[in-house]
Amino acid sequence: MPEPTLGNPQNTIAVLQKYNFSFQKKFGQNFLIDTHVLDKIIRAAEITKEDMVLEIGPGIGTMTQYLANAAGKVIAVEIDKMLIPILEDTLSGFENVRVINEDVLKVDIEKLVREENGGRPIKVVANLPYYITTPIIMGLFENHVPMKSITVMVQKEVADRMQVGPGTKDYGALSLAVQYYARPYIVANVPPNCFMPRPKVGSAVIRLERYEEPPVRVEDEKQMFQIIRASFNQRRKTLVNGLSNAAELDFTKECIQSAVEALGRGASVRGEALSLEEFARLSNLLSEMK
Ligand code: SAM
Repeated sequence: MPEPTLGNPQNTIAVLQKYNFSFQKKFGQNFLIDTHVLDKIIRAAEITKEDMVLEIGPGIGTMTQYLANAAGKVIAVEIDKMLIPILEDTLSGFENVRVINEDVLKVDIEKLVREENGGRPIKVVANLPYYITTPIIMGLFENHVPMKSITVMVQKEVADRMQVGPGTKDYGALSLAVQYYARPYIVANVPPNCFMPRPKVGSAVIRLERYEEPPVRVEDEKQMFQIIRASFNQRRKTLVNGLSNAAELDFTKECIQSAVEALGRGASVRGEALSLEEFARLSNLLSEMK
């Protein structure tokens, strides 16, 4: 297997010039040009030759080369067809890589894991296109893709939102959804000069380690997430008012009031004060009242 050749500015520029490639802003293209950051991502993902890795958005194949060296197999899904001939070139010699030219949000990843890895859990590693971070991550969790972990570069602010608990301004529906499925851990903060072109925002690598069992017991997952979304959609309102006004929930105000009381919370409590465990209990209490 060849050693990675990309990951520094000179070789990246050489590839881009060879193919006369122009960056597409709409695809969130910011390519990594720092080998230390690449090494850090690969180490944090703890990849072994036993692993199949799904890479979302390989770009010109920079991280793909590193992943191919560490993993048993790499499947890389890239939307931009202009990158496909480049990937054929930069990944020639890496025989354990398959590139799929598709929009990752349209790929049935669960089926892919069944076909390519016999349904065994995979690891997801990516420098994500930031404009679709949340749908990609939530899609992987909600579609129950068999996974051990997700190690991804995201916007710094989004990494913070995934990691925080109640009582902070960044706490919201994304924090709760991520923390229901996985244990989050911020691996590194990454400044804009590690990318070409430089993004306008700071970035961070976050590792989400999938729980085998969720940390809380909930009767009706879908309902709990409806409650969570309704609470944060109307952040300024009390929890009772927010949930009473929510179109997708069908509980009377009295029901909600007594469930919130049974939680041991006052009538003026806001959703942002509740922990994941409390949202699970609230949802279970409301299920019992149905
Ligand atoms: N992995 C490369 C690197 O680190 O240098 C590129 C990362 S760049 C931030 C994001 C990549 O995702 C781009 O190559 C972009 O074309 C690709 N991309 C954007 N939207 C996508 C989608 N919906 N499905 C698959 N790939 C997508």
